[in-house]
Amino acid sequence: MLEGLVIQHGANRYLVETGTVADPEIWVCTIAGRLRQGRKTQVRVAVIGDRVRLQPEEAADEAHGSIVEVLPRANRISRPAPSGGRQQRQEQVVMANLDRLWVIASLDQPPLNLHFVDRVLAAARHQGVEAGLVLNKLDLASARDPRPTKELYESLGYPVLLCSALGGQGVEELRASFAGGIGAFVGLSGVGKSSLINALQPGLELVTKEVGERSGQGRHTTTASRLYRLDCGGWLADTPGMRGFGLWGMSKGELGDNFVEFDAPAQRCRFRDCLHVEEPGCEVLAALGRGELDEGRYRHYRGLLEELPEELDGWRDRKGGGRR
Ligand code: GDP
Ligand code: ZN
Repeated sequence: MLEGLVIQHGANRYLVETGTVADPEIWVCTIAGRLRQGRKTQVRVAVIGDRVRLQPEEAADEAHGSIVEVLPRANRISRPAPSGGRQQRQEQVVMANLDRLWVIASLDQPPLNLHFVDRVLAAARHQGVEAGLVLNKLDLASARDPRPTKELYESLGYPVLLCSALGGQGVEELRASFAGGIGAFVGLSGVGKSSLINALQPGLELVTKEVGERSGQGRHTTTASRLYRLDCGGWLADTPGMRGFGLWGMSKGELGDNFVEFDAPAQRCRFRDCLHVEEPGCEVLAALGRGELDEGRYRHYRGLLEELPEELDGWRDRKGGGRR
């Protein structure tokens, strides 16, 4: 029996890497029948980032195997699976065991969008994923002063990197953050994700594009999800399910739990289910009034609150995932 990492998944074909960085081996695997039993077909048993046990099988040319066990996950990124008809939507896990999600934002061109940043940071906390912020395009003369933003997010406990994909500032630090782990980028179009991938590892961006395009042509191949090995020893995850990283599976009442600076004052709100909007005895509003909380972050909280449902529609299996 071997243990490995799922680096690509398709309909029922998985690529699993075993061995060491110096001497890796790629196995083409299917899922053992007993793991598939009782599962709805659209729910994948294993996803990229999963550590699995595999049983080697006899095959003519390639290394073939059968995945017999998926090891427990540290976290998982999921979204509601598209469903037909009236039945409840199901959870679709898009990747597992993500060590660091970097939100990429640009200081200008396009202008810095902290609403998007706060959305991703809240969603990451909800899904139990460590996140950090990359402020890119530091080299632009028109770039705004990044220091207040850096200070704000660092004070909240998020790592912040000032980068220039073109000039090279911050790239070494970004690369170091991947060492030994799985990292991923999320960001709006034009902020420099592809350029940063290229700066991390010249040539890799081209490979990611090729995989995406090829899979775009085939039938039923919505899965260009892959882990790319970086020469520094870590992995870069690329999955379409993450590009639109959303607030899935969060109700209005849970949003405040994912704004880290609300943690302490929210404990003292008069109502346990306080949404920190206009409730009497709200200590989050009181802290905001005293200037202890950042107004921009609070504004984004209110904006995101509008988007969320009162109640979850139950698509997420709450056991075993997320923060609580
Ligand atoms: P993506 O859509 O997030 O993948 O963004 P791209 O990597 O395609 O970059 C969008 C544009 O911004 C391109 O014209 C890049 O050359 C430019 N760009 C990316 N990073 C930087 C940077 O650090 N500095 C400057 N000046 N331009 C950048
Ligand atoms: Zn409150």
